[in-house]
Amino acid sequence: MKKSSSAPEVAAAVVVAAPIKKVPVKKAVAKKAPRKIALKDSKKVPLAMTAKKIHTRDTGIKRNPLGHLLMEKMLREAGFHGEVSTAKELLDKYSTDESIFSIRPQVVIRPRHKSDVEVVVKTIGRETKRFSSLSLTPRAAGTGLGGGSLTDSIVVDMMHLNKMGDVTIKKDKAVFTCEPGLMWRDMEKELKKHDLYLPPYTASKDICTIGGAIGNNSAGPDSLRYGHCADWVESLDVVLKDGKSYTIKPLTLKEFQALIKQKHEHARIAQSIYELIVKNEVEIKRNKPKTKKNSSGYALWNVIPEGVVAFKKGKGVFDLTRIITGSQGTIGIVTNITMRALPIQKNTSLLMVPIFDLAEAADTIVKSLKYNPINVEIFDALTFDLALSNPDFFKQRLSGLMYYRVMLSMYTTYHVRFARKIPEFTVLITLDEETTQKKPAVEIAKEISTKSSKARVVTNQVEAEMYWQIRRASYTLSKFQDRNKRPAAFLEDMTVPPENLSKFFMQIKKLFKEFNVTAAVHGHGGNGHFHFYPLLDFTNKTTPALVEKMADAFFDTAVKFKGDICGEHNDGIIRTPYLHKMFSKKMLEIFKETEHLFDPDDIFNPGKKVNPRFDIRHNIRHTN
Ligand SMILES: Cc1cc2nc3c(=O)[nH]c(=O)nc-3n(C[C@H](O)[C@H](O)[C@H](O)COP(=O)(O)OP(=O)(O)OC[C@H]3O[C@@H](n4cnc5c(N)ncnc54)[C@H](O)[C@@H]3O)c2cc1C
Repeated sequence: MKKSSSAPEVAAAVVVAAPIKKVPVKKAVAKKAPRKIALKDSKKVPLAMTAKKIHTRDTGIKRNPLGHLLMEKMLREAGFHGEVSTAKELLDKYSTDESIFSIRPQVVIRPRHKSDVEVVVKTIGRETKRFSSLSLTPRAAGTGLGGGSLTDSIVVDMMHLNKMGDVTIKKDKAVFTCEPGLMWRDMEKELKKHDLYLPPYTASKDICTIGGAIGNNSAGPDSLRYGHCADWVESLDVVLKDGKSYTIKPLTLKEFQALIKQKHEHARIAQSIYELIVKNEVEIKRNKPKTKKNSSGYALWNVIPEGVVAFKKGKGVFDLTRIITGSQGTIGIVTNITMRALPIQKNTSLLMVPIFDLAEAADTIVKSLKYNPINVEIFDALTFDLALSNPDFFKQRLSGLMYYRVMLSMYTTYHVRFARKIPEFTVLITLDEETTQKKPAVEIAKEISTKSSKARVVTNQVEAEMYWQIRRASYTLSKFQDRNKRPAAFLEDMTVPPENLSKFFMQIKKLFKEFNVTAAVHGHGGNGHFHFYPLLDFTNKTTPALVEKMADAFFDTAVKFKGDICGEHNDGIIRTPYLHKMFSKKMLEIFKETEHLFDPDDIFNPGKKVNPRFDIRHNIRHTN
């Protein structure tokens, strides 16, 4: 049974909480509905007897907290050691992430370790059969831009599962293990000790976790060459709907055959997904996104990459980690992660190309791709301008003398190198040593230059740092345009084949003009992947309708240029209702079936990726 979108039902059904004060019924609703307590099938539900209605003057209806206590008691008796809270400050905090939405959860649960997660899934999973609106939404650092970690039910904050495990280096492979709540920056520090890094690092690596990056199948600058997080997974420990942990990893035919003989959830799911792929292989292949980057849908096209016929003959693997990574917690909760890492790149060369004529951007970038760059990143004139006018911002990011040197480089570049004319785009291209040994960077720079865009090799480390500082701060800088508005994340993840980049961008510029909205732009040029952040006032009542209209028009444009509406930030609340623009009707049904095979009772993060249930207009935040 799918979850109903009636938030009051959720309010009535959520019965876990502490402290014991009266718990206000949620304010943000999934869809506008009369505020009432609607207990589902209450006769069968002994707990409901304790959820007595109490009418109060201020909030309408409040519930007797005894029900919450009972549920907490159930968790404790089952061996749960973590925290359970309905404290107002916590519910406020978890009502938002970096998206444009605001949805208030009922309860926050913080497991202490893996077995706590198992207890929560088992207990709440059992109760969802009686209270169908109960669900579990895993949350990591909450930096997601699509609303993936927001819910009107129970948030499971994974912050305490934050241990780094072993790093092992064998001849040609480095592998590390960690828990999902580990901050990316802490994992990075550990890897650095071994001269290693995880290539799909995100621009948010200082504020996000590795588990959230797995949840979203995140990517970053070096993904141009090295792909998404999913490409680096060795295995994942996942708590499935029966509340048990399973280690999920790529399986050879022999291993797959041995697995499906067993009698447990992992075996059942593996067998069912295999059958689903066999039945729909042609449709799945047809729907595989054409862009190199995508975190939309369930990546069924990567589960048996060699194809069913080859797999049956013993070639290739059956790999469920490909759909768990990027599933946004909709099919299970990840409790342990094993990934490969790569030696840190040394002696790289940076090329900088100032693009003054947009029509030439695609040409330069496509030419640079011939040299297999590690990354090709871009930021626009507005971003550079915001950096120039907000030097203080960099004070917190750069220490002492380095701050002054970087600022000096920024102003010299503007006044002298750019002769006070900021390029439409600044393009940064990183080449590895192997490439530049074959052909010197200076020659490559000459080759990719166009009539008005002259590429040059940046040899000065301070100048290089200056460009990367601006690129990495692009999103935060865009907040300085107008403090009474918010750079809104909803058009921020479109990607098109790089050869279509100039035409696509010109069309987008036109659309922004039509909607009379400004937007800073940055992104991963080599992937034709742009982050547009239109500046909107969320206190304005017309903004929700504008968001819907703009999303519709802009997403159509991305698809028109053979693009994707979701390169790396995943579907969340914002893109799930628009997946029909990218995928066939049948494919959307296959996605639904995939989710259902893992999660038939819809315990895990309902309303994301399939079966959208959060109305965009009604759940948009009202503050900037
Ligand atoms: C300034 C800025 C820059 C950014 N740059 C990038 C970028 O370069 N590339 C990029 O891809 N993204 C980027 N993002 C988006 C975001 O930071 C990333 O997607 C990040 O990886 C999310 O991590 P998190 O810890 O905040 O996860 P959250 O937002 O808390 O969660 C992300 C999703 O994963 C699910 N989840 C969390 N933990 C688990 C678990 N244990 N098991 C199952 N599911 C789970 C959640 O339910 C949610 O759906 C950026 C965001 C900001 C604010």
